Amino acid sequence: MSLIVQKFGGSSVADAESIKRVAKRIVETRRAGNEVVVAVSAMGDTTDELLDLAHEVTPIPAPRELDMLLTAGERISMALLAMAIRSLGYDARSFTGSQAGMITDAQHGAARIVDVTPGRLREALDQGAIAIVAGFQGFSRESRDITTLGRGGSDTTAVALAAALGADVCEIYTDVDGVFTADPRVVPKARKLDRITSEEMLELAASGAKVLHIRAVEYARRHGVTLHVRSSFSYTEGTIVYDPQASPEGETFMEESVIAGVAADLSEAKITVVGVPDIPGAAAKIFKIVANTNANVDMIVQNVSAATTGRTDISFTLPKADGEKAITALRNAQEGVGFENLQYDDQIGKLAIVGNAMRSASGISAKLFESLYDAGINIEMISTSEIRISVVTRAASINDAVRAVHTAFGLDGEGDAVVHAGTGR
Ligand code: ASP
Ligand code: MG
Repeated sequence: MSLIVQKFGGSSVADAESIKRVAKRIVETRRAGNEVVVAVSAMGDTTDELLDLAHEVTPIPAPRELDMLLTAGERISMALLAMAIRSLGYDARSFTGSQAGMITDAQHGAARIVDVTPGRLREALDQGAIAIVAGFQGFSRESRDITTLGRGGSDTTAVALAAALGADVCEIYTDVDGVFTADPRVVPKARKLDRITSEEMLELAASGAKVLHIRAVEYARRHGVTLHVRSSFSYTEGTIVYDPQASPEGETFMEESVIAGVAADLSEAKITVVGVPDIPGAAAKIFKIVANTNANVDMIVQNVSAATTGRTDISFTLPKADGEKAITALRNAQEGVGFENLQYDDQIGKLAIVGNAMRSASGISAKLFESLYDAGINIEMISTSEIRISVVTRAASINDAVRAVHTAFGLDGEGDAVVHAGTGR
């Protein structure tokens, strides 16, 4: 008998009909002789609606009360799902995050999991029941309050339960067929990947691929949980996200092409600090100031300094949402750092290619840059990791860039990819 954890996102349980459909699907897995634990998100846009409601009541809702409110969304879907399963003749019990043993720290809105004690789930399974768990929520022993893990946190709930229960696989059901070589809404010829390593998935998620929540991939990697990303709207096999070190087959599943996928991100902005004195400590000062605003810096490029002036330019990218506070903090420190000028640009796009085989293959960057040149796209910044190359372009040309690169690396498939509901969440 296998133990399978299944996670259903908001778009898969958007209304009563969808909940009944998902219930059938869960029952099929149970009927096949598996033990089943389900992590469920709030129905459709419930979480956004609750957030809007809170902000109508007060501009700055108290974090404790906001968590109390938002966790209600998952309580609704878990109870309805359990009822739907019971009406199909199978025993099902719903559990809040705290009942399921999701113990977190006390940080409202962004709680970290510190322990998982799924005793009640194990008990329910032993009695033949299906356990339904509210995603995205936990309980702090410290504050004795209900917490949430942050937006999109239900993937992490599922993975944490899979790790704690020693599940054979954690299935993440979404509205796309799996992990694609690029966003099928941008690249109609994108192909579904059968397998991808967790390291590649992590880089893709960090580069803007939205199919999996990055914290969930991280958690899965750290705890050796195998993920199966698949559609709740079809029965096709999805994408297995695995750790080659942990899998007995080693890396024999490697995809044929050197590149696993192309990701794009339009959520970042670029700050250029112009005329920075080229002396030790200048960069340290700048990034200390930015770090103190809690902005999340991504790519950094420093130019060679001009011999005549002894000054240089430093550019970096960060989430648009962090842009204003970083600019304000830097402007306030202009005299102390001694730079000449600040530029802010929120019309950038970031493209990344990711592939394990990049470690040993050569000519990948040349091919990337050439394909962008052929498409008439200018590169503004470049950065690399062992298995990723990222470039910054104009936001307006990012989709053309993704398509050009996808074709150049031979990733285009035969037919057009099927997009079922449309958000990838
Ligand atoms: N309902 C929560 C959200 O929308 C958690 C989730 O969907 O994973 O962020
Ligand atoms: Mg959601």
